[in-house]
Amino acid sequence: METNYDVVVIGGGAAGMMSAIFSAKNGNSTLLIEHNEKLGKKLYITGKGKCNLTNNSPVDTHIQNIITNSKFMFSALNAFTPQDTIEFFENSSLKLKTERGKRVFPASYKSSDVIKALVKNLSNFCAKVTLNTEVKDVFKTGEKFYIQCANQITYTANCVILATGGLSYKSTGSCDFGLKVAQKFGHNIVQPRPALCPIIVKDDLSSIANLALRNVSLHFVLGKINYNFFGDLLFTKNSLTGPIALTLSSHINKLNLNGAQLYVDLKPALSEQQLINKLERELPNYKNKTLKTYLATILPTEIIDLFIKKLAMENKLINKLSTQNKMQIISLLKKFDFSIKSLDNIDVGIVTSGGVDTKQINPKTMESKLVKNLYFAGEVIDVDALTGGFNLQIAWSTGYVAGNSVKGKL
Ligand SMILES: Cc1cc2nc3c(=O)[nH]c(=O)nc-3n(C[C@H](O)[C@H](O)[C@H](O)COP(=O)(O)OP(=O)(O)OC[C@H]3O[C@@H](n4cnc5c(N)ncnc54)[C@H](O)[C@@H]3O)c2cc1C
Repeated sequence: METNYDVVVIGGGAAGMMSAIFSAKNGNSTLLIEHNEKLGKKLYITGKGKCNLTNNSPVDTHIQNIITNSKFMFSALNAFTPQDTIEFFENSSLKLKTERGKRVFPASYKSSDVIKALVKNLSNFCAKVTLNTEVKDVFKTGEKFYIQCANQITYTANCVILATGGLSYKSTGSCDFGLKVAQKFGHNIVQPRPALCPIIVKDDLSSIANLALRNVSLHFVLGKINYNFFGDLLFTKNSLTGPIALTLSSHINKLNLNGAQLYVDLKPALSEQQLINKLERELPNYKNKTLKTYLATILPTEIIDLFIKKLAMENKLINKLSTQNKMQIISLLKKFDFSIKSLDNIDVGIVTSGGVDTKQINPKTMESKLVKNLYFAGEVIDVDALTGGFNLQIAWSTGYVAGNSVKGKL
């Protein structure tokens, strides 16, 4: 059995597979080591199994959608652009489809087809793959790296690419191994935090759990810090999730959230004055009815009890509403409020923010600035982006750059 390679890639996710393909394509004997029983376990669950593999937009748009260390990604995204990703997969006989928001999917909507295309490339360029193999330690003596595995095998290599991913969705194989290795080699690790994750609130939301609100705006306030996002929102029994909450979470995950408030504008298309006019026009038709009856005409049924509870107007009749009461209703329609407790656990974040400090990685090669011939690719690096295919593009671009830069023949 061959144990000596030019290049060993640790982690068989999106970034690791891409690295191994380009390392092997450049003539390096390449081994890809994965501790799961198959490659791309996380890739398999992306985009709800459909895999939104990139975003068919210019590099600038990708940069704008990267929340942490976007400048670091400039070179890699230009070296392997979203259009290169599309071409790479199309040349691998994978038909693609571009959808709303320029999100690119396999035409089959099967993430497994993306994995198949990568596996075919690994095989075409003769990259070796070893599955069910957990790397336990990596050390360097002289110019050689020693990659010790749990199965007692130690591989040697001239170059190592660490592509062990982030910390979320542990069931897919994510763990802190790559971060520990990087730290051992002297790298600074930026504290991993959940990103694209639900926002837990102090309020009891059990009465509106599973309620989805379309086209609302979500406003975050913490002292002078403000964020505002418009789109779709979903409630669980203790958190706000769905596209705009996930986006917000990536912006606020580095803040101390003590005292942070969320406000949902339930009627973003109407100004306060327009709402005053609407109530003046409509309420007289409900004179002897309860407030609940009227609210059922303007709000989703599930939210009404909580709405009335927040107003402390249970059983209130419309003809008993004072002017102040009406203003309170309007105010709550525009600012349905929640107190933030925390972000959800890192395991449920779609991506991890934090990881190997980008200051210690050469952005043009992905090589460590501290350790010659040690490279990084993918989510193990402190870079994270919003939803839309931007995170996988980070994996493809950094994977390509690392795989293309390794000089395995010493
Ligand atoms: C539910 C979900 C949906 C997503 N949907 C999308 C989407 O549609 N579009 C998008 O752009 N992004 C999406 N993402 C984000 C995207 O999947 C990740 O950013 C991307 O997969 C990261 O790739 P990676 O190769 O860096 O890490 P990973 O895919 O996590 O790969 C790392 C690999 O390293 C292996 N490994 C770790 N330690 C060891 C060790 N010691 N020995 C051997 N192997 C090891 C792991 O088993 C794993 O296979 C989604 C994420 C989640 C969780």
